[in-house]
Amino acid sequence: MIIDLHTHYIDDPSALGEQLREDMLKCHVKPESWLCSEEEYLSGTAAADCAVCFGLRGSATGWAVSNARVAAFVKRHPEKYVYFASIDPLDADALDQLRFEHRSNGCRGLKLGPIYQGVHPLDERYMPLYEYCQANELPIMTHMATTFSSGVPIDYARPCHMDAVACRFPRLRIVMAHMSHPWEGEAIAVVRRNRNLYVDISALYYRPWQFYNSMRLAQEYGCTEKIFFGSDYPATTTADSIRGVLDMNKVIRGTGLPEISQSVLEDIVHRDSLAVLGIER
Ligand SMILES: [Zn+2]
Repeated sequence: MIIDLHTHYIDDPSALGEQLREDMLKCHVKPESWLCSEEEYLSGTAAADCAVCFGLRGSATGWAVSNARVAAFVKRHPEKYVYFASIDPLDADALDQLRFEHRSNGCRGLKLGPIYQGVHPLDERYMPLYEYCQANELPIMTHMATTFSSGVPIDYARPCHMDAVACRFPRLRIVMAHMSHPWEGEAIAVVRRNRNLYVDISALYYRPWQFYNSMRLAQEYGCTEKIFFGSDYPATTTADSIRGVLDMNKVIRGTGLPEISQSVLEDIVHRDSLAVLGIER
Protein backbone atom coordinates (compact mmCIF):
# COMPACT_ATOMS: atom_id res chain seq x y z
CA MET A 1 0.00 0.00 0.00
CA ILE A 2 1.19 3.49 -0.82
CA ILE A 3 -0.04 6.50 1.15
CA ASP A 4 0.74 9.95 -0.21
CA LEU A 5 0.58 12.00 2.97
CA HIS A 6 1.08 15.40 1.37
CA THR A 7 -1.03 16.67 -1.54
CA HIS A 8 -2.66 20.02 -2.28
CA TYR A 9 -6.01 20.42 -4.01
CA ILE A 10 -6.22 23.96 -5.39
CA ASP A 11 -8.75 24.26 -8.21
CA ASP A 12 -9.57 27.96 -7.86
CA PRO A 13 -7.17 30.67 -9.18
CA SER A 14 -8.46 33.16 -6.59
CA ALA A 15 -6.89 30.97 -3.88
CA LEU A 16 -3.47 32.41 -4.80
CA GLY A 17 -3.15 36.06 -3.75
CA GLU A 18 -1.18 38.79 -5.52
CA GLN A 19 1.75 38.72 -3.06
CA LEU A 20 2.00 34.95 -3.34
CA ARG A 21 2.06 35.08 -7.14
CA GLU A 22 4.85 37.68 -7.07
CA ASP A 23 6.86 35.61 -4.58
CA MET A 24 6.49 32.49 -6.72
CA LEU A 25 7.60 34.27 -9.89
CA LYS A 26 10.61 35.75 -8.07
CA CYS A 27 11.72 32.17 -7.28
CA HIS A 28 10.99 30.92 -10.84
CA VAL A 29 7.84 29.03 -9.82
CA LYS A 30 4.81 29.41 -12.10
CA PRO A 31 1.69 30.21 -10.03
CA GLU A 32 -0.43 28.17 -12.47
CA SER A 33 1.63 25.09 -11.61
CA TRP A 34 -0.07 25.11 -8.17
CA LEU A 35 -3.53 24.89 -9.72
CA CYS A 36 -5.21 21.71 -10.91
CA SER A 37 -8.55 20.51 -12.14
CA GLU A 38 -10.25 17.61 -10.39
CA GLU A 39 -9.21 15.32 -13.26
CA GLU A 40 -5.59 16.47 -13.08
CA TYR A 41 -5.50 15.92 -9.34
CA LEU A 42 -6.94 12.40 -9.68
CA SER A 43 -4.41 11.54 -12.33
CA GLY A 44 -1.46 13.18 -10.49
CA THR A 45 -2.15 11.11 -7.37
CA ALA A 46 -3.21 7.92 -9.22
CA ALA A 47 -0.14 5.99 -8.05
CA ALA A 48 -1.22 6.28 -4.41
CA ASP A 49 -3.70 3.89 -2.79
CA CYS A 50 -4.65 6.68 -0.43
CA ALA A 51 -3.76 10.37 -0.23
CA VAL A 52 -4.14 13.11 2.34
CA CYS A 53 -5.59 16.17 0.70
CA PHE A 54 -5.49 19.77 1.89
CA GLY A 55 -5.31 23.38 0.75
CA LEU A 56 -3.49 26.09 2.64
CA ARG A 57 -4.67 29.20 4.42
CA GLY A 58 -2.27 32.00 5.34
CA SER A 59 -3.43 35.58 4.85
CA ALA A 60 0.06 36.87 5.77
CA THR A 61 1.47 35.58 2.47
CA GLY A 62 -1.57 35.23 0.21
CA TRP A 63 -2.78 31.63 0.55
CA ALA A 64 -6.59 31.46 0.57
CA VAL A 65 -7.58 27.93 -0.43
CA SER A 66 -11.17 27.20 0.50
CA ASN A 67 -11.53 24.36 3.00
CA ALA A 68 -15.06 23.84 1.72
CA ARG A 69 -13.79 23.07 -1.80
CA VAL A 70 -11.22 20.57 -0.51
CA ALA A 71 -13.77 18.92 1.79
CA ALA A 72 -16.29 18.71 -1.06
CA PHE A 73 -13.70 17.08 -3.32
CA VAL A 74 -12.86 14.47 -0.66
CA LYS A 75 -16.57 13.77 -0.13
CA ARG A 76 -16.82 12.95 -3.84
CA HIS A 77 -13.95 10.42 -3.47
CA PRO A 78 -14.15 9.11 0.10
CA GLU A 79 -12.71 5.71 -0.73
CA LYS A 80 -9.26 7.12 -1.48
CA TYR A 81 -8.77 10.62 -0.06
CA VAL A 82 -8.45 11.91 3.49
CA TYR A 83 -9.26 15.54 4.28
CA PHE A 84 -7.08 17.79 6.44
CA ALA A 85 -8.37 21.32 7.10
CA SER A 86 -6.05 24.32 6.99
CA ILE A 87 -6.74 27.05 9.53
CA ASP A 88 -5.20 30.54 9.60
CA PRO A 89 -4.31 31.40 13.21
CA LEU A 90 -4.71 35.11 12.38
CA ASP A 91 -8.48 34.55 12.04
CA ALA A 92 -10.22 35.55 15.29
CA ASP A 93 -12.51 32.50 14.98
CA ALA A 94 -9.72 30.05 14.11
CA LEU A 95 -10.70 27.54 16.78
CA ASP A 96 -14.37 27.69 15.77
CA GLN A 97 -13.35 27.05 12.17
CA LEU A 98 -11.33 24.01 13.21
CA ARG A 99 -14.20 22.69 15.32
CA PHE A 100 -16.57 23.12 12.35
CA GLU A 101 -14.23 21.41 9.89
CA HIS A 102 -13.77 18.55 12.35
CA ARG A 103 -17.39 18.03 13.40
CA SER A 104 -19.24 19.00 10.22
CA ASN A 105 -16.80 18.43 7.36
CA GLY A 106 -14.96 15.40 8.70
CA CYS A 107 -11.40 16.69 8.70
CA ARG A 108 -8.96 14.07 10.00
CA GLY A 109 -6.04 16.40 10.63
CA LEU A 110 -4.84 20.00 10.48
CA LYS A 111 -2.53 21.63 7.95
CA LEU A 112 -0.45 24.56 9.23
CA GLY A 113 2.49 26.59 7.96
CA PRO A 114 3.94 29.24 10.31
CA ILE A 115 6.16 30.70 7.61
CA TYR A 116 3.07 31.18 5.41
CA GLN A 117 0.80 32.22 8.25
CA GLY A 118 3.13 34.84 9.74
CA VAL A 119 2.81 33.44 13.25
CA HIS A 120 5.64 31.94 15.29
CA PRO A 121 5.04 28.23 16.09
CA LEU A 122 5.14 29.04 19.82
CA ASP A 123 2.80 32.05 19.56
CA GLU A 124 -0.25 31.92 21.82
CA ARG A 125 -2.53 32.03 18.78
CA TYR A 126 -1.49 28.50 17.83
CA MET A 127 -2.02 27.06 21.31
CA PRO A 128 -5.83 26.52 21.14
CA LEU A 129 -5.35 24.72 17.81
CA TYR A 130 -2.64 22.46 19.25
CA GLU A 131 -4.80 21.80 22.32
CA TYR A 132 -7.86 20.92 20.21
CA CYS A 133 -5.84 18.59 17.99
CA GLN A 134 -4.22 16.84 20.92
CA ALA A 135 -7.55 16.41 22.73
CA ASN A 136 -9.29 15.11 19.58
CA GLU A 137 -6.39 13.03 18.27
CA LEU A 138 -6.04 15.03 15.06
CA PRO A 139 -2.49 14.99 13.68
CA ILE A 140 -0.89 18.18 12.39
CA MET A 141 0.95 18.50 9.09
CA THR A 142 3.04 21.66 9.25
CA HIS A 143 5.31 23.26 6.69
CA MET A 144 8.61 23.60 8.56
CA ALA A 145 10.96 24.36 5.68
CA THR A 146 12.07 27.21 3.50
CA THR A 147 9.74 28.59 0.84
CA PHE A 148 9.34 31.16 -1.92
CA SER A 149 7.05 33.31 0.24
CA SER A 150 8.55 36.50 1.68
CA GLY A 151 7.77 38.90 4.52
CA VAL A 152 7.81 36.37 7.37
CA PRO A 153 11.05 35.58 9.27
CA ILE A 154 12.52 32.30 8.11
CA ASP A 155 13.14 31.46 11.75
CA TYR A 156 9.41 30.55 12.00
CA ALA A 157 10.19 27.51 9.84
CA ARG A 158 12.91 26.05 12.10
CA PRO A 159 12.18 22.51 13.34
CA CYS A 160 13.58 23.32 16.81
CA HIS A 161 10.37 25.28 17.47
CA MET A 162 8.28 22.14 16.89
CA ASP A 163 10.57 20.38 19.37
CA ALA A 164 9.35 22.92 21.94
CA VAL A 165 5.72 22.36 20.85
CA ALA A 166 6.22 18.59 21.18
CA CYS A 167 7.57 19.05 24.71
CA ARG A 168 4.46 21.05 25.62
CA PHE A 169 2.00 18.74 23.79
CA PRO A 170 3.58 15.29 24.09
CA ARG A 171 0.53 13.39 22.75
CA LEU A 172 0.08 15.63 19.71
CA ARG A 173 1.19 13.89 16.51
CA ILE A 174 3.08 16.33 14.27
CA VAL A 175 4.56 15.84 10.81
CA MET A 176 7.12 18.40 9.66
CA ALA A 177 6.85 18.62 5.89
CA HIS A 178 9.76 18.39 3.46
CA MET A 179 12.12 17.06 6.17
CA SER A 180 12.44 20.74 7.13
CA HIS A 181 14.89 21.48 4.32
CA PRO A 182 17.45 23.05 4.57
CA TRP A 183 17.51 22.09 8.29
CA GLU A 184 17.29 18.34 7.80
CA GLY A 185 19.93 17.73 10.48
CA GLU A 186 17.95 19.73 13.02
CA ALA A 187 14.74 17.94 11.97
CA ILE A 188 16.36 14.53 12.48
CA ALA A 189 17.63 15.59 15.91
CA VAL A 190 14.15 16.60 17.05
CA VAL A 191 12.10 13.72 15.56
CA ARG A 192 14.51 11.25 17.11
CA ARG A 193 13.92 12.53 20.63
CA ASN A 194 10.15 13.20 20.45
CA ARG A 195 7.91 10.14 20.22
CA ASN A 196 5.12 11.88 18.25
CA LEU A 197 7.17 14.06 15.92
CA TYR A 198 7.73 12.93 12.31
CA VAL A 199 8.89 14.24 8.93
CA ASP A 200 7.72 13.70 5.37
CA ILE A 201 9.96 13.63 2.32
CA SER A 202 7.64 15.42 -0.07
CA ALA A 203 9.18 17.67 -2.74
CA LEU A 204 12.76 16.58 -2.01
CA TYR A 205 13.74 14.03 -4.68
CA TYR A 206 14.34 16.64 -7.36
CA ARG A 207 17.23 18.09 -5.31
CA PRO A 208 19.03 14.75 -5.35
CA TRP A 209 22.31 15.70 -3.65
CA GLN A 210 20.57 17.38 -0.72
CA PHE A 211 18.06 14.52 -0.48
CA TYR A 212 20.82 11.90 -0.47
CA ASN A 213 22.69 13.68 2.34
CA SER A 214 19.48 14.05 4.37
CA MET A 215 18.67 10.39 4.05
CA ARG A 216 22.22 9.39 5.01
CA LEU A 217 21.89 11.49 8.15
CA ALA A 218 18.55 9.88 9.02
CA GLN A 219 20.00 6.43 8.46
CA GLU A 220 23.09 7.12 10.57
CA TYR A 221 20.93 8.44 13.42
CA GLY A 222 18.70 5.36 13.12
CA CYS A 223 15.40 7.20 12.81
CA THR A 224 14.22 6.36 9.30
CA GLU A 225 11.03 4.82 10.78
CA LYS A 226 9.93 8.42 11.55
CA ILE A 227 9.91 9.31 7.84
CA PHE A 228 6.68 9.32 5.81
CA PHE A 229 6.15 9.37 2.07
CA GLY A 230 4.48 12.32 0.35
CA SER A 231 4.64 14.08 -3.00
CA ASP A 232 3.52 17.70 -2.45
CA TYR A 233 1.30 17.34 -5.54
CA PRO A 234 1.00 19.43 -7.72
CA ALA A 235 4.66 20.35 -7.16
CA THR A 236 5.29 16.82 -8.47
CA THR A 237 3.18 13.71 -8.99
CA THR A 238 2.90 10.72 -6.69
CA ALA A 239 4.36 8.42 -9.37
CA ASP A 240 7.40 10.64 -10.01
CA SER A 241 7.99 10.93 -6.27
CA ILE A 242 7.94 7.16 -5.79
CA ARG A 243 10.48 6.76 -8.61
CA GLY A 244 12.59 9.61 -7.23
CA VAL A 245 12.75 8.04 -3.77
CA LEU A 246 13.42 4.48 -4.93
CA ASP A 247 16.10 5.60 -7.44
CA MET A 248 17.85 8.05 -5.15
CA ASN A 249 21.12 6.10 -5.00
CA LYS A 250 21.79 6.82 -8.66
CA VAL A 251 23.18 10.24 -7.65
CA ILE A 252 26.21 8.59 -5.99
CA ARG A 253 26.66 5.55 -8.24
CA GLY A 254 30.30 5.09 -9.21
CA THR A 255 31.54 7.51 -6.55
CA GLY A 256 32.32 5.12 -3.69
CA LEU A 257 29.98 7.04 -1.40
CA PRO A 258 27.74 4.84 0.80
CA GLU A 259 24.27 4.02 -0.52
CA ILE A 260 20.98 4.52 1.28
CA SER A 261 19.61 1.10 2.17
CA GLN A 262 17.10 0.09 -0.53
CA SER A 263 14.94 -1.61 2.09
CA VAL A 264 14.80 1.66 4.06
CA LEU A 265 13.55 3.44 0.93
CA GLU A 266 10.99 0.70 0.21
CA ASP A 267 9.78 0.88 3.82
CA ILE A 268 9.25 4.64 3.56
CA VAL A 269 7.27 4.38 0.31
CA HIS A 270 5.08 1.57 1.72
CA ARG A 271 4.73 2.84 5.31
CA ASP A 272 1.19 3.00 6.69
CA SER A 273 1.65 6.57 7.88
CA LEU A 274 -2.07 7.03 8.58
CA ALA A 275 -2.06 4.15 11.05
CA VAL A 276 1.02 5.60 12.78
CA LEU A 277 -0.81 8.93 13.00
CA GLY A 278 -3.87 7.24 14.49
CA ILE A 279 -6.14 7.72 11.49
CA GLU A 280 -8.43 4.78 10.79
CA ARG A 281 -9.58 4.28 7.24
ZN1 LIG B 1 2.94 21.29 0.53
